[in-house]
Amino acid sequence: MIHKKNISDLANFGGTALFATPRSTSNLVRPDVETFLLHSKSILEQRRRIGAPSLVEQLERELAEFHNTTFCVAFSNGFWGLALAMKCLAVPGKTEIVMPSLTYRRMADIAAWVKLVPHYCEIDAHTLGINAETAARCINENTALLLAVHPIVNCCEIDGLVGLAERNNLPLLVDAVESVYETYKGKKIGSFGNAECFSMHASKLINGFEGGYLTTNDPDLAEKLIKMRSMGVLEDGRTIPHGIDATMNDVHAAMALASLLDLPAQVERNRMRYEAYKHMLGSVPGINLLAFDEREQCSYKNIVVRLSAEWPLSRADTLSILHSERVIARPYYSPALHMKRTTYPTIAGDLSLTESLAEQFMLLPCGYFVDDDDTALIVSLLRFIHDHADQITRQLHQK
Ligand SMILES: *Cc1c(COP(=O)(O)O)cnc(C)c1O
Repeated sequence: MIHKKNISDLANFGGTALFATPRSTSNLVRPDVETFLLHSKSILEQRRRIGAPSLVEQLERELAEFHNTTFCVAFSNGFWGLALAMKCLAVPGKTEIVMPSLTYRRMADIAAWVKLVPHYCEIDAHTLGINAETAARCINENTALLLAVHPIVNCCEIDGLVGLAERNNLPLLVDAVESVYETYKGKKIGSFGNAECFSMHASKLINGFEGGYLTTNDPDLAEKLIKMRSMGVLEDGRTIPHGIDATMNDVHAAMALASLLDLPAQVERNRMRYEAYKHMLGSVPGINLLAFDEREQCSYKNIVVRLSAEWPLSRADTLSILHSERVIARPYYSPALHMKRTTYPTIAGDLSLTESLAEQFMLLPCGYFVDDDDTALIVSLLRFIHDHADQITRQLHQK
């Protein structure tokens, strides 16, 4: 399958790379181009005055319906959606936000923007997310907000966290970026906790080139967020504090609407790719695919593997070999956030499980441009690496 006979055929050691162009974990998913153009044309042809009903509002309606929620508020991106939700939900006068450390790399920065102190929480080895028990250990008299983040494959135990928030009378914000299509115990993601946040960055399931949104059933929160995203200006011209310019624009909404229409087809393509990986990776020792929980609705988007004790190379060496072959695999949320130096304060207790898990996973190429032949080549490269591990390690480290 791959034309590599010995390790000198690896690109790291002078051979030709397996792919001429990179195979990556985040490809620009392409919805139907005509649908995007038609929506885009309508923006200009309607001769709308600025401030008239827009494609963004249509998108918000469709997304609220998609998630079974009363409200959806769109933003320029997920970052500012999260920041404004944190600002609105945090208990006044309190300072700490309980959040996982093994998570999206900008998460602590977002909290710092709204002057909350990240209090890092241990995760559950089974879900890779925080749960009611680990979060409870981080709650104290300074807690302002709980932030649950769904991991890349499947969901964290969100019903337990909802109960914990209620018992402690604390607000709960959910980052559900990676679970936009999923259900939890059969219930559509979108209405757990006080609000849920999503991204429409080009690398995510619903591609708006850029963009984000929050779903909620709380009318007061929705209204406040709508004001804050447009510089905090009220209808009568007065302003509320902390307004910023974080509206979404109609061209991004046009793309997102086209993506939404394409979603079932995209998920089906993802499922086929996932099945192909699953089938072929079964024969590579030491590489275990994280399985989607098929009792739920799933997007099958991300291909995450765990390198077990049987895998004979370090993750860093494995990634180095893969990258030279233009297989752009990535470490999964590594380093964990509490391991990074920051200019703002953070709180971290014992996070030994997080630290150990942060070393073990990687994401393999997926998305629109990774076809069946590619997955077969990637898996046979992994098998080749496995079979030549000792030689590869020696060669890499004598240089
Ligand atoms: C991408 C991502 C975000 C941020 O979304 P942007 O729209 O890129 O700002 C937040 N949380 C998670 C888990 C993400 O993967």
